[in-house]
Amino acid sequence: MSDQNPVFIPGPTNIPDRLRSAMQVQTRDHRAPDFVETFAPVLEDTKKVFGTKDGTVITFPASGTGGWEAAVCNTLSPGDRVLVARYGTFSHRWIDLCQRHGLEVEIIECPWGSGAPADKFEAALSADTTHKIKAVLVTHNETATGVKSDIAEVRAAMNAASHPALLFVDCVSSLASMPFDMDGWGVDIAVSGSQKGFMLATGMAILGVSPKALAAMETATLPRTFFDFKDMMAANVSGGFPYTPPLQLIYGLRESLNMLFEEGLENVYARHSRLAEGVRRAVDAWGLRLVAQSPELYSDTVSAIYTPKGLDSNALTQQAFDHYGVSFGVGLGEMHGKAFRIGHLGSLTDVMVLSGLATMEMAMADLDYPVELGTGVAAAQEYFRRGQGAAIKTAA
Ligand SMILES: *Cc1c(COP(=O)(O)O)cnc(C)c1O
Repeated sequence: MSDQNPVFIPGPTNIPDRLRSAMQVQTRDHRAPDFVETFAPVLEDTKKVFGTKDGTVITFPASGTGGWEAAVCNTLSPGDRVLVARYGTFSHRWIDLCQRHGLEVEIIECPWGSGAPADKFEAALSADTTHKIKAVLVTHNETATGVKSDIAEVRAAMNAASHPALLFVDCVSSLASMPFDMDGWGVDIAVSGSQKGFMLATGMAILGVSPKALAAMETATLPRTFFDFKDMMAANVSGGFPYTPPLQLIYGLRESLNMLFEEGLENVYARHSRLAEGVRRAVDAWGLRLVAQSPELYSDTVSAIYTPKGLDSNALTQQAFDHYGVSFGVGLGEMHGKAFRIGHLGSLTDVMVLSGLATMEMAMADLDYPVELGTGVAAAQEYFRRGQGAAIKTAA
């Protein structure tokens, strides 16, 4: 029965029945009119989630990591310099990918729990008078620490330095859950995936690409075949794919977009922000502390929470899994053993979140952390009660 429990890992997320059904399709010929008529509108509608009119949506059968690779290899050349801040596991992995592609990576080291340092970006870009830096890479929502960065501020820093670098943003754990404004923020490539905010199975990298990034492709010489934007766009024009598309996922994405638009993107964001605040109130009631250093950095999709000294965060998540059949996020990288994570994104309601908080309380009590059962749950309940109208709307 524990397969009925929701997961509280920050991706892959719970797949609602409606989307599981939508992905249950028999093999169809991807060259037949039915697929062609489905696919083009899916690409068009996904633009609304990225917040772009000018951009192009490109998708590959891959996970988010494939999206990082596609962004880099289509627009850059060996030896190009990119500017990145490292403040968690995901920003670190993107750096590693760039290094393995032979790029020169200028790294700004930041404490875990902080976000993208716009002021330091501005200083580095202003110092780069010969424009060696070709791209600035930012992880919008650092899933390892539960930190959301301000992309508009990064864009403002780039403009203040009058620097022509491209802006690449990893929005894998924020898109379709937190506001994203690709055009407004001047994002050149936004990288996401199917298994988080879109509530689907893993298997699609989903990218928004600006006209400026497409222009950069003309002179970029990093090798690419599977991830070639040009091949993909040429096939997409007639509703097709340069190789076999992940058909079931694309039908799933159609239905996911229907669900997001039916709820309304603004309501989706409001729901995530409410769920997140409920979790934070519980954390506070437990006497625990978030990894995110200050309120403006708090993520609405995942909270990373320090365990007190002497309580191994991995033992806690293990206890929740072994005894109650509920998964929470483990501490990644520097947070290994020090912090656990509650994922609160995708297909989740207030009531589901309460069950996660109650489970965590039991696991903490089992490991002799002096938590009074129900305190975190009650703090979240008090908060959710006030948002009742919105909660009922999402339950429909
Ligand atoms: C999940 C995630 C990714 C992508 O990971 P995949 O496992 O390759 O899909 C990238 N960045 C962030 C911030 C993530 O949360």
